[in-house]
Amino acid sequence: MSTSKIWLSSPHLSGHEITYIQQALDTNWVAPLGPHVDAFEQELVHYLGGGYAAALSSGTAALHLALVMLGVGPGDLVLCQSFTFAASANPIKYLGAMPVFLDSEPTTWNLCPQALEDALKHYAAQGQKPKAVIGVHLYGMPARLDELLALCAAYEVPFVEDAAEALGATYRGQAAGTFGVLSILSFNGNKIITTSGGGALLAREESWVQQARFLATQARDPAPHYQHAQVGYNYRLSNVCAGIGRAQLEVLDQRVAARRAHFDYYQAQLGYLPGLVFQPEAAGSYSNRWLSCFTLDPARAGGTSREDLRLALEAEQIESRPLWKPMHQQPVFAQAPYFGGTVADTLFEQGLCLPSGSNLTEADRERVVKIIQDQF
Ligand SMILES: *Cc1c(COP(=O)(O)O)cnc(C)c1O
Repeated sequence: MSTSKIWLSSPHLSGHEITYIQQALDTNWVAPLGPHVDAFEQELVHYLGGGYAAALSSGTAALHLALVMLGVGPGDLVLCQSFTFAASANPIKYLGAMPVFLDSEPTTWNLCPQALEDALKHYAAQGQKPKAVIGVHLYGMPARLDELLALCAAYEVPFVEDAAEALGATYRGQAAGTFGVLSILSFNGNKIITTSGGGALLAREESWVQQARFLATQARDPAPHYQHAQVGYNYRLSNVCAGIGRAQLEVLDQRVAARRAHFDYYQAQLGYLPGLVFQPEAAGSYSNRWLSCFTLDPARAGGTSREDLRLALEAEQIESRPLWKPMHQQPVFAQAPYFGGTVADTLFEQGLCLPSGSNLTEADRERVVKIIQDQF
């Protein structure tokens, strides 16, 4: 049996990246602008089925600009899913605003509509209006968007869609990344497709994206000299990286199919184990299954915990990882208010992500499954 390392989610190149990179070098477009950047934006929008895109240096930069454009400033409130990666929440702090964390619900593991309503009501009663709601589609699973968007509309708070993990997923047939007033994607090395590092800001209205491109290039006003009326940022995507993104986008549907096949295999091989439950996919939702994840209740698994499984896999050179530790449990956000119960806490305590890269082999998957089965 092979003992080579199996990673959680590593870059999976198509082989065409070099063609685009070579074009960038041959034409001397080695800068954070150029034909690949423009084409990547158009191809993204085409894939998503509409709207406008600004290609940026990271998903975090895209979220930062989204909050800047929504006018978030010192002392403002921004509601945010607690069960997520810290990058969803850090930009709130960049702007001196206060994150308010909200619990998840068990059917999607994403933002709980009840917690959102409780928080919106609570602040409305105090005459306070949060500047934005940040919702996430974790592990590629669409959130309960119908309810979340209705609440945001009723309370007139803009919904910022963190689709960093969800490119290729759909909700009622519509692409993840097209639901927010502003939406963001990430092309980091571990995401479903990569530009090595990169992200995008998406919007249905072109003016938002024009504003994002302006802010992302140092907010330079039209003048022969350098003239600035606003604080700017250096957040554009490199033309070389955008070339990688173009090649990756060509194979996105194959990558989604591969990851979904991994999930189906794991579920078929492990789903019967006592206390082990895979992330559900609700009717009308189509996850990209960026990572295959489950929870394991030790009380129903004869005392076996997810940590037992993680350590057993690690001993065999296999990387797995606990689900995200909720933001309301993170020392850096200790001062932030929280609305909800213990759904996110339990997901963190009991959850595990399995190796899910689209470049995983059948032999790799078999190794993973065998080790887990042996713990029961
Ligand atoms: C990866 C990720 C981000 C940040 O994207 P970067 O491109 O790494 O800055 C934001 N939110 C979530 C949920 C992510 O998984």
